[in-house]
Amino acid sequence: MAFAILSRFTAESFSDGELRAAVEAAYADVDAPAIAPLSQIGAGEYLLELFHGPTLAFKDIAMQILGQLFAKALAKRGGRATIVAATSGDTGSAAIAALGGLPNIDVFVMHPKGRVSDVQRLQMTTAAQANVHNIALEGTFDDAQGIVKDLFADIEFARQIGLTAVNSINFARIAAQCVYYFTATAQLGRPATFVVPTGNFGDIFAGEAAARMGLDVARLVIATNANDIMARALNDGVYAAGNAHATLSPSMDIQVASNFERALFEASGRDAAWTAAAMGDFARSRRLELPRAVLESLRARYSAFASDDGETRAAIAAVHQQTGRIIDPHTAVGVAAARRMGQNGRSGGPSPVVILSTAHPAKFPDAVAQAIGAPPPEPVRLSGLKNLPERLDVLGRDTALIKRFISSRLTA
Ligand SMILES: *Cc1c(COP(=O)(O)O)cnc(C)c1O
Repeated sequence: MAFAILSRFTAESFSDGELRAAVEAAYADVDAPAIAPLSQIGAGEYLLELFHGPTLAFKDIAMQILGQLFAKALAKRGGRATIVAATSGDTGSAAIAALGGLPNIDVFVMHPKGRVSDVQRLQMTTAAQANVHNIALEGTFDDAQGIVKDLFADIEFARQIGLTAVNSINFARIAAQCVYYFTATAQLGRPATFVVPTGNFGDIFAGEAAARMGLDVARLVIATNANDIMARALNDGVYAAGNAHATLSPSMDIQVASNFERALFEASGRDAAWTAAAMGDFARSRRLELPRAVLESLRARYSAFASDDGETRAAIAAVHQQTGRIIDPHTAVGVAAARRMGQNGRSGGPSPVVILSTAHPAKFPDAVAQAIGAPPPEPVRLSGLKNLPERLDVLGRDTALIKRFISSRLTA
């Protein structure tokens, strides 16, 4: 399935044989034979388990294939690349797992200092490869993402270091994430309502991309934590940034969702001039009133629900009590949204509800313990991390400083 879908995007760059080999290699190190298995947790209610890869979060699914394709492209065309990634916790470790140790590549990962879980930090900072560079940024995820955008905007610097993105700004991520919308629908045999724990809007936009490729999708449901800018945009028609709140689901502690620009572009009937003007206004005023036609188009495809930490804990406890299964706090935000939607009679009728289960609970043991009284068992992939030395540099949120740091550390 991954080959069939990705080959629609990569035909100019890779032969069928190269893409097939990359897909095989990307999914060789997944702890589930189905790669993205579906499991039922209630009547017409399923989890799509996307956390069986090397770093135990769904980011692996796209990042592993991206790493394979980067290595292949650089080998073919020569040259080097500098990857700079902003992470709310899971993108960083997935990028390091996919790119650490590859030739001709340096990987710089910026995480917001003190705002990722201990397991998430250790997964990044204990990487031993010389081409991996961790930055603990004194700021929020949005500050880190803003710096990455600034680096790209300095075209001369970007060209000099061969700057490349692996955040979901990079459409290859979205393309790879389309695949599991197709596999889940094929397994269920009918169109589903997908509930997606949302931060940067990449994973859920992959659902829109799948639908635009021809997949019959009943509905896409945005599930957010207290950082509810997306839920407010859909429900009130005003896209307005607030302050980032630290929550039990840190990978979704994001205010400005990069990929929402893509959904706005589509909802405007692909009006590039309007989209550019609207994003310009938003960058200045941090507020955008959505025109009626754009809002109606968004609402035809998406619904949105926000849940706070109390509801997140309650969802972890409820699923545990009903099924014996332990879910992570991001998945729990999805379950809370799905169940609220059911109560409101807005589930879109008889379509099955598929909640994207985006992380393994062992990445967030404190949140799980708060909900059910004990942390989840530690999987083999995480055992021993605490005993390894950590490597990281703490830096202020200053683009010029980050530029100097990057230039001084390049190995490739
Ligand atoms: C990144 C992440 C999300 C949010 O995905 P987006 O594509 O940023 O919307 C949700 N859950 C987990 C565990 C994540 O790592």
